[in-house]
Amino acid sequence: MKSHYRVVVIGGGVVGCSVLYHLAKLGWTDIALVERKTLTSGSSWHAAGIFHALNADPNIAALQAYTIKLFKEIQEESGQNVGLHMTGGINVASAPERWEWLQAAYRIFQTMGIDTARLVGRDEIKAMHPLMDVSDVLGGLYDVSEGHVDTYGTTYAYAGAARKRGATIIENNRVLELKQKPDGWDVVTEKGTIGCEHVVNCGGLWAKQVGLMAGLDLPVTPMEHHYLVTETIPEIAARKEELPLIVDLEGFTYTRQEGKGLLVGLYERDFKHWRMEGAPWDFGIELNQEDIDRIAPELEIGFKRFPALQQVGIKKWVNGSFTFTPDGNPLVGRAPGVRNYWTACGVMAGFLQGGGVGLSLAEMMIHGEPSTDIYGMDIARYGGWAANREYLKQTTGQFYSRRFVMTYPNEQLWAGRPLRTAPAYDAMTANGMRWGVLWGLEIPLYVAPSKDFEEKPTLKRSNAHDIVGAECRKTRETIGLLDTSAFSRYEVTGPKALAWLDHVMASKLPGPGRCALAPMLAPSGKLRGDLSIFNWGDGTFWIMGSYYLRAWHMRWFKDNLSDGVSVRDISDDWVGFSLSGPRSRELLETVVQNADVSHQGFRFLACREIDVGMTRAKVGRLSVNGELGYEINVPASEHLTLYRTLKKAGSDFGMVEIGFNAMLSLRIEKSFGLWNREFTQAYTPGETGMDRWINFDKKDFIGRDAALKEREKGARRQLVTLEVAADDADTSSWEPVWRGNKMVGYITSGAYGHTIGKSIGMALVERAHAAVGTELTTHVVGIERKAKVVAPSPYDPTGSRMRI
Ligand SMILES: Cc1cc2nc3c(=O)[nH]c(=O)nc-3n(C[C@H](O)[C@H](O)[C@H](O)COP(=O)(O)OP(=O)(O)OC[C@H]3O[C@@H](n4cnc5c(N)ncnc54)[C@H](O)[C@@H]3O)c2cc1C
Repeated sequence: MKSHYRVVVIGGGVVGCSVLYHLAKLGWTDIALVERKTLTSGSSWHAAGIFHALNADPNIAALQAYTIKLFKEIQEESGQNVGLHMTGGINVASAPERWEWLQAAYRIFQTMGIDTARLVGRDEIKAMHPLMDVSDVLGGLYDVSEGHVDTYGTTYAYAGAARKRGATIIENNRVLELKQKPDGWDVVTEKGTIGCEHVVNCGGLWAKQVGLMAGLDLPVTPMEHHYLVTETIPEIAARKEELPLIVDLEGFTYTRQEGKGLLVGLYERDFKHWRMEGAPWDFGIELNQEDIDRIAPELEIGFKRFPALQQVGIKKWVNGSFTFTPDGNPLVGRAPGVRNYWTACGVMAGFLQGGGVGLSLAEMMIHGEPSTDIYGMDIARYGGWAANREYLKQTTGQFYSRRFVMTYPNEQLWAGRPLRTAPAYDAMTANGMRWGVLWGLEIPLYVAPSKDFEEKPTLKRSNAHDIVGAECRKTRETIGLLDTSAFSRYEVTGPKALAWLDHVMASKLPGPGRCALAPMLAPSGKLRGDLSIFNWGDGTFWIMGSYYLRAWHMRWFKDNLSDGVSVRDISDDWVGFSLSGPRSRELLETVVQNADVSHQGFRFLACREIDVGMTRAKVGRLSVNGELGYEINVPASEHLTLYRTLKKAGSDFGMVEIGFNAMLSLRIEKSFGLWNREFTQAYTPGETGMDRWINFDKKDFIGRDAALKEREKGARRQLVTLEVAADDADTSSWEPVWRGNKMVGYITSGAYGHTIGKSIGMALVERAHAAVGTELTTHVVGIERKAKVVAPSPYDPTGSRMRI
């Protein structure tokens, strides 16, 4: 053990060892892993070692595919056998909606380049797994690259390969304390203090405590989880080939062959948390007492699915614990607000995801950013609120109990809600508003026609489709009122505010009293934000963007902050409503006394402080719906007053309240992109058309060199708008786009355009196939549909309606 390393990784489970390996692989070798006992002493020793290909987030599915390919590599590098059993695996569906979902998922696999999967029918499933009762099975998704590994072997293989590349592993040495220094950390351990630049929390079951050592309360908690292993099953003993894995999605169980018996794991609905404050420090290689009564309902389903289970004894019960976060994805990256403190914890499936997590973290540490869009597991996707014990308990419980339960895109889940509500929430609810949730905030979806209206969960157009359609049409004809509390707002002040914005944003900044769209880039030239800048003319600027990126954006702003500038997240303090539609000016004129809001007096993209009714509002003349529109921002305490003012005035103009569902349809008719769909940290300005907002004349802004290079070379892909020949469903995202048999791109988002009466998709496609008029196809909920490239903004292509 040296007295100083560049990086100290805390925790020698599969994740810590993978992080260590990837840091070394990417070139940082002055690194050490400190483990409390011996490697695998947390969750890792008793895992079932299974790896699946399927994940609802395609970016995470891609990282899982990376992990699967890595097993052989680390085995060869380390000389340590990982006990790889590439048995193949089948996700089986026994409900029609699930079968539909699997067929759609298969197409998304194609987009991700996962070519080892195929759909299989009932007979083939039976032939592959004769022990299974397939009488109710409708089909499955088979992937030859699924299987299981030995958990010790894999962890030690990562560790061995890291050691060979120069990394140090220090066992039987608990980290007791972390002390931050100007140049890094003092890691106080049982064997002495180690200095380092960076600390990585790979504490697994102890991640909570290792977070608190740096003052961080992480949204992570252990939960109990069971599997059983049977005695020898004669039919298995008689087989030559190993059985494939089975995930019985309606049955709550997963199985694999273990020796000559079966291993059956289950995700029970009656979940149980374990030591929410983290495992005790003296916790050893221990298991919890099995709790068969609690898991009996799911076990019963499993026994029906595999009747042979009824004939043999159970050799072993494992009731272990592992960690969960509110959405089940890991917490990876640099913790906001704490310098050089990194996390790779909350990894629910360390054997399946450990490779991808290790790679992404090492890329973030060494290259400054991950090579793919891993927002779905970035620690900065949560704010401090997510660690609230009740919130964490509800959301992790919901995730666990629904692990194999299908969630539809239009389905609203109960856990952790309502947490945050805008002040007009109750009044809007009384008016029939139905709510979704974004980053803990209730967001308006649509106004239901009656109290009893129930939206049915579906992969296709729902029974709310026509309601949303009416909101869209009314907005285009008269006025739509939308609660915009779920936009983020950051206030930038200080003598250097303008210079700082000019450096951080790639666009031309708006002059006093103006607002403008502003792309933000990383040094690599990839996108970091699709923001709007408001110059209020008094030295104060606002940045507005996506609400759920608040911690992610603030981390970036603070990383790039300079003297003389202050950036404050004011999203909890300022909320608002937008008015959009041809009569919105007329309405505004009736409630404004101290300003000229005529076309001449308040032009497109102007912004200023205006009294709207009794509220003192900050108003911008812009709209995401492509109509004449105004975004009216007020202090949170005046939100309800603003709502009442606009509702009262709007009744004379036929104004309707609308929700985000209408906005998503209206914006796609204008080909306006969204973050996390058309724009992500993996895409470039040239691909997405964001380059047209870049001010290449500026001599200095983050990402300039890379953006210039891209401009010279040209982007390989292009964001296009597609008219899709779909009748009962619309594209969503990640569906492959085909030119004949060749995949030439994929869908970024889709919706029905209620004004133009067409299904619209946006897609990133190879340039050669991006010309207007190109005939392509795509898969909508698994069914191939024609898709033609059309000119951007099928509704009002010249943008005249926004400017009237
Ligand atoms: C019953 C069961 C079945 C499972 N099956 C699967 C499966 O089939 N496939 C799959 O992918 N996953 C499975 N998992 C999940 C898997 O076990 C975990 O995702 C994985 O082990 C997490 O690894 P980790 O390295 O993050 O944490 P851990 O394995 O918990 O490792 C954390 C390590 O950090 C050390 N540590 C903590 N604090 C300190 C400190 N202060 N100082 C020094 N060292 C410290 C601990 O001693 C421990 O060794 C299963 C889990 C259970 C319980």
